Amino acid sequence: SIVYLNGEYLPLEEAKIPVLDRGFIFGDGVYEVIPVYDRRPFRLAEHLRRLQHSLDGIRLANPLTEAEWSECITHIAEAAETEDQGIYLQVTRGPAPRDHAFPKVVRQTVFIMSTPLTTPPRELVEQGVSAVTAVDNRWLRCDIKAIALLPNVLLRQLAVDAGCAETILLRDGFLTEGAASNVFVVRDGVILAPPKSNLMLPGITYDVVLEIAANQGFAHAVRQVSEAELRGAEEIWLTSSTKEVTAVTRLDGRPVADGRPGPLFWKMHAAYQAFKQTVMRA
Ligand code: PLP
Repeated sequence: SIVYLNGEYLPLEEAKIPVLDRGFIFGDGVYEVIPVYDRRPFRLAEHLRRLQHSLDGIRLANPLTEAEWSECITHIAEAAETEDQGIYLQVTRGPAPRDHAFPKVVRQTVFIMSTPLTTPPRELVEQGVSAVTAVDNRWLRCDIKAIALLPNVLLRQLAVDAGCAETILLRDGFLTEGAASNVFVVRDGVILAPPKSNLMLPGITYDVVLEIAANQGFAHAVRQVSEAELRGAEEIWLTSSTKEVTAVTRLDGRPVADGRPGPLFWKMHAAYQAFKQTVMRA
């Protein structure tokens, strides 16, 4: 398939970057994953706004204007094989002699590719997934979507090793997020979401879920969620661009409530699918 690299469109096999790229040497860069439904990028403006936040967070100039990003992403989405896709883009501080300090002259590396997007299959929606918990040992700028993902990689592998789908993270006794998702909890019929801070990625899907809750009149609150509240939850949900809204039905080997996706999950799932449809028809 066709990818974008530094101003050129070319086959993936021909896309090459210098080994001294700071993305490779230091993990010095940021990224985004944008879902595309029916070849239409979902919440593109919001993803580009978060990209700008990440770039500001690592003090790297945005190499493209919003119009240029939009044009490149649309071009890649149109050239791809499938209608539903995940657009991956990354910007690094580019190639430079190896030195921790920023190079004097920065030439950012810009890479965009499309991969087929598979939305959660029916079976997974109906049964939910299992998750494990772990101490959130990441840095204090988890709001930056940094390509340096080693802590997330190690945390996510804990889930895989336990035959689970995700690792849910706790910092100082409070829920932060998943290794690659945001986490919602239902208590006493109220949807609870940890507040955005430097300790979690501000998920685009997280925002969509809170918007839906507000529009549909589902009781919800944005506040800290303790470990005890997580463990005693009526429902636990994961959200991300690829997971959409997925119910967690087992946590650390124990069933969440009766071990099946709960009533609020089904309401949110239906509303989320309807919301996607309106965007696709727009
Ligand atoms: N938190 C982390 C650590 C993530 O990696 C992701 C995305 O994969 C999310 C949350 C969810 O963000 P979004 O809804 O924008 O996909």
